[in-house]
Amino acid sequence: MDELTPSQETTFLELWGSISTPSISTMATDEEPWPTNLNALANDFDERLFELSQNEIPPSMPPSASSVPETCDYPGEYNFTLRFQKSGTAKSVTSTFSETLNKLYCQLAKTSPVEVLVTKDPPSGSVLRATAVYKKTEHVAEVVRRCPHHQNEDVMEYKSHLIRIEGSQLARYYEDFSTKRHSVTVPYEPPQLGSERTTILLSFMCNSSCMGGMNRRPIRTILTLETPDGLVLGRRSFEVRVCACPGRDRKTEEENRTKSQTGTKDTKKRKSAPAVEVPVKKTKSSSGEDDKEVFILNVRGRERYEMLKKINDALELQDKDNKKNKAKVNVPCGKKLMLKGYWQTVSYCLNSILTKEKMSMKNSHCPIMT
Ligand SMILES: [Zn+2]
Repeated sequence: MDELTPSQETTFLELWGSISTPSISTMATDEEPWPTNLNALANDFDERLFELSQNEIPPSMPPSASSVPETCDYPGEYNFTLRFQKSGTAKSVTSTFSETLNKLYCQLAKTSPVEVLVTKDPPSGSVLRATAVYKKTEHVAEVVRRCPHHQNEDVMEYKSHLIRIEGSQLARYYEDFSTKRHSVTVPYEPPQLGSERTTILLSFMCNSSCMGGMNRRPIRTILTLETPDGLVLGRRSFEVRVCACPGRDRKTEEENRTKSQTGTKDTKKRKSAPAVEVPVKKTKSSSGEDDKEVFILNVRGRERYEMLKKINDALELQDKDNKKNKAKVNVPCGKKLMLKGYWQTVSYCLNSILTKEKMSMKNSHCPIMT
């Protein structure tokens, strides 16, 4: 059994990889990303890392194609196949398999029996291995782990493992040294007398929706039949959804599949339709001097009306002033004084409005300010 590496442990390589080095062109800017990072690094950096000998530093592990587990079906010479019990889609069902979607629906930590069939006995010491992998390409590089919440509730050494095999003392939990992927194995046992299949009991220890874990990202489970040396003799994979209502969810998703196949209008189809880009008409700023649209404002009370009118008059005057400036016509000194006077009045009006509003609406924002 491999030694489990705590996920919290930061290796030198991980630390090194986490440093975002600014490009030379950005180093002299005011943004100062480099000194900030240096400070963070200085605080977090463990000098003991340099005491590690060359042998203790794990080899560099650039993600390669081989680090992503293969999911394609491969019956091999033993004609390795899986079969699931027919559990239907009743509300009470805790685990059910959809043949049409090749998808297992099960509840958190509930047993899902999986029947394994081969047409001849594999070599002695062969094992069955279960591995989880994210279904979508954008997530496939990430290791499927349990969410922090469910991990904290668990006391087992392999508490971060999503897939468990129940009912066997011989189940072994692995974390791959280089890829960090989790898997669990049990020795392959030939069917008992009178039976044609071997049954293993899988359980999934997080919901598909678990935050910080699968986080609604669909997964596949890969089951492989392997020799004691790890040579793959057969492989099967299926999608898994861990949810509160497996029966309901299976029914819904199977119905959606049927609808999309028969061409019925279906939300999934509509969602996947390319978005139509609507050109946005550029509108002129409503406060701009070229905005010719006229609005009528009903004002209650003469005092308030006079105040708002003065504000409006000042704005009108300013617009005229701006137009003249654009036409390079000097505004007569008297006009400037008049404008100044208007703004002084407006300023006084605004202040008095604000004071009044503050008195009456202590807990809300003044409408003029917002
Ligand atoms: Zn969880």
